[in-house]
Amino acid sequence: GSTAALDQLREKLSPQGDVVSPQGRALTEAVFGAPLSPVEVVERICGEVKSQGDQALLHYSKQLDKADLTTEQLRVPAEDLAAAHAAADPALIATIGRIRDNVATFQKAILHQDVSISPKPGVTLTQRYVPLKRVGVCVPGGAAAYPSTVLMTVVPAQVAGVDEIAVVAPPTPFGAYNQDMLATCHELGVTEVYRMGGAHAVAAMAYGTDSVPAVQKIVGPGNLFVALAKKHVYGVVDIDSFAGPSEVIVIADHSARADFIAADLLAQAEHSPGSAILITWEADVIEAVKAELGKQLKLLDRSDLTRDALAAFGALILVRDSEHACQLTDTFAPEHLHIQTENPEQQMDKLRNSGAAFLGHYTPVALGDYAAGPSHVLPTGGTCTWAAGLCSNSFLRSGSVTSFQQDAMIEIAEDVERLAEKEGLTAHARSVSIRR
Ligand code: NAD
Repeated sequence: GSTAALDQLREKLSPQGDVVSPQGRALTEAVFGAPLSPVEVVERICGEVKSQGDQALLHYSKQLDKADLTTEQLRVPAEDLAAAHAAADPALIATIGRIRDNVATFQKAILHQDVSISPKPGVTLTQRYVPLKRVGVCVPGGAAAYPSTVLMTVVPAQVAGVDEIAVVAPPTPFGAYNQDMLATCHELGVTEVYRMGGAHAVAAMAYGTDSVPAVQKIVGPGNLFVALAKKHVYGVVDIDSFAGPSEVIVIADHSARADFIAADLLAQAEHSPGSAILITWEADVIEAVKAELGKQLKLLDRSDLTRDALAAFGALILVRDSEHACQLTDTFAPEHLHIQTENPEQQMDKLRNSGAAFLGHYTPVALGDYAAGPSHVLPTGGTCTWAAGLCSNSFLRSGSVTSFQQDAMIEIAEDVERLAEKEGLTAHARSVSIRR
C-alpha cells in the first residue's frame, strides 16, 4: 500500500503514541488543573522533583497514586522483603530460582569480554568493559504486577557485575505492595526497593533526592509517562530504550494453527493496551483466527479489557505472499515477532527489524516473557530499527586502553605530527616530538 496508508495503520496499531485513556486524561486535569499533554505532564513532574526533591516525590505519589507516604516509608524495609519471601508459595520461589538460572546462563554467555590486540610490536590496544556502579530498575505496577520484570532486569544487571541495584515500583497493590514482586526481589538479593512509580520515580533516580541516591542508568518498562520521563532525563543518566506498551506481529502460513495464533494475539492484547497483528497470505487462516478469537476471548479473566485493546490496536492483515509479509513486518518493526510457518528461518533471513523474534509453532512469546533467557524488556513503537532490548551488556560501559613503547611511538610520530600541524594544533604535535 501507499506510505500514507501504512502511516495510518501504524498510528492505529501502535499503542505507543500519545494515547492516554479517558481516566488518565481526567487524572491529569484533576492534578494539574489543565488538560496538559503527557509530555507537558512529564516536564512539569521532572522539573519539580529536580528542584524540590522528596517533597515533590511525595506530592505526586499522593496525587497520582493515592499513596500518602512519609519519606521514611519510601523505601521498603528489609523486614517486609523478608516477610514477603517467607510467606510466598514455595513453588513460586522455586520457579524464580529456575528462571534466574536460565536468564543468567544466557546473559553470561553474551557478556562482552575485554578485547586486546597488538597490531605491531610495542603497541597494545584494548577495549575494556566495566560494569556500571549503580542502576535503577522500573517495575510497572499500574495495571498489572510484574515479578517477571524484576527477573528480566535485575539478573542481567547482576551478571554484568553492577554493585547497587535500586528497584522502584508504584505504591499500589500491583506495584511495591505486591507480595510476589517483593518476594522475587528478596530471592534475587535486591535490598533496595522504593515505593514510587511513574515519572516522579524516574526523576528521583536521575537527579537524586535526600531519600533516593541518584543512579547512573535507568532501565525497565513502563507506561507512556515512565517512557517519556526516561527520555526527558536521558543525558543526566543513561536509559535503556523506549520500552512501552507491548506489541506482537505474527506471520503465519497454512501450517499454523488458528487456536495457537488467537491465543498469542490475545496474550499481547491482554496487556491493554497491547497491539496484536496477524500477517498472512492465506485467507483461510484469517477466517479461522477470527473465529478462534471470538471463542477464546470469552475464556479470559481480563476479557473486556482485552476485547477493547484488540478493537483499538489489533489487525488481521492479508498480504500477497511471504515476501510482502516480511516487507510489511520490517516497516512496522515490532517489539515481538512470532513466525509460525513451515520454515520460519526462511522469513527470518529476510527480516531486519524486530526486538525479539520467536520461531516456530512451539515458541510462544510467553516463553520469552517469562522464562527462556533473553530479557523481555524490549524497544517498542518501531524503535527497534535502532534500539536493542535490554541485556547484560546494557549494564557495561566500554573504554579503551592504549599503550605504546618508545620505538612504536617513534614509528607513528610523523603521521601524528603532520595531522596535528595541519589542524593548527602545534602543542599536540610537540607533545609527540618532545619524546622522539
Ligand atoms: P507503570 O508503573 O508503568 O505506570 C503507572 C504510573 O504512572 C502510576 O503509578 C502513576 O504514577 C503514573 N501515571 C498514571 N497515570 C498518569 C497520569 N495521567 N499523569 C501522570 N502520571 C500518571 O504501570 P502500568 O500502567 O502498569 O504500565 C506498564 C506498561 O509497561 C504496560 O503498558 C505494559 O504493557 C508495559 N510493559 C512493557 C514491557 C516491555 O518490555 N516493553 C514489559 C512489561 C510491561
